[in-house]
Amino acid sequence: MENITYILAILITLLILKIIFNAKAKDIKKFETDEELEKIVEKLPDNEQLAKIYLQKLNNNTVKIDKWNDEKIKTSVYNAMTNTITIGKIDKMYTRIQTIAHECLHSVQPKRILKFNFWFSNINILYFIVLLILTLFRIIEETNIQIFILLMLGIIQYSIKSYLEQDAMTKAKYLVNEYFDTNNDIENTEKEKLLKKYEELNEKAIPFVSYSLIFSELLKILLYLIIVIII
Ligand SMILES: [Zn+2]
Repeated sequence: MENITYILAILITLLILKIIFNAKAKDIKKFETDEELEKIVEKLPDNEQLAKIYLQKLNNNTVKIDKWNDEKIKTSVYNAMTNTITIGKIDKMYTRIQTIAHECLHSVQPKRILKFNFWFSNINILYFIVLLILTLFRIIEETNIQIFILLMLGIIQYSIKSYLEQDAMTKAKYLVNEYFDTNNDIENTEKEKLLKKYEELNEKAIPFVSYSLIFSELLKILLYLIIVIII
């Protein structure tokens, strides 16, 4: 009964946050393609060149720029441990101008936080896997303390990740603006169209990311509780 109450509490929490943040994946999906904007962005430098321009503006000349070996991967990431931005298959996407700015901004965030985030993410997931195994083999039977530990780990993870993401997402707009100020490849009206669309996307995406980050932490506790109930 106690565990069912925990599950209900988590579900209610997620529901409240979903409503408050108006977090809907389909709203974000709508921004994936836009023929007119894609044509405009075609006239701008390729991703690698663009990253170099941004990094120069950010006074960061140590970052390596790379691509995935698997060309189907669409996500782009900055790895603080190798100081590398790996760009996904986003050549055709109009959002790439903002995405590359986002990754470049990650590269100038405090290294201490970035590295902690790397280690902590790994420890967090490892703890969860070990906990599930030990629970399945009935080696760990004290549920409450584990829920509390998962919650604390989740709070740390959420605080750090949401700080890093919000910071990069919020600043991306200014970096793109700064870039457009010095760019002559496209017309001013085209720049305005792009900026307007990016602004609309950010309005939906920034709260959505906050919700997704807390969702993935609470989902772990939910899964753990379901396993505890089943076995
Ligand atoms: Zn990011």
